[in-house]
Amino acid sequence: MAEPTFAFLGTDAEGRPKWLVFPCQRPGQPGEQCQIALRPSQHNAVGASWAWDGNRDAPTITPSIDCSRVCGWHGWLTAGQFRTA
Ligand SMILES: [Zn+2]
Repeated sequence: MAEPTFAFLGTDAEGRPKWLVFPCQRPGQPGEQCQIALRPSQHNAVGASWAWDGNRDAPTITPSIDCSRVCGWHGWLTAGQFRTA
């Protein structure tokens, strides 16, 4: 299985990326991309944001990613690996 790929978009005043783009984990949506706001920024419609450990190749994101408003997936991203809740 191929390793998931991650993209970091935007840069805040401190040089930190604002967004993480990741392959959607909902079954049946291959190729779809989902996006979350990284702390300390809050950019999305619901004002939610996530902590990132700074690892670009194998990121850890906390708390769990609730993509239910977007694609329906909810789970964890730890050391670059997805786990469905
Ligand atoms: Zn998604």
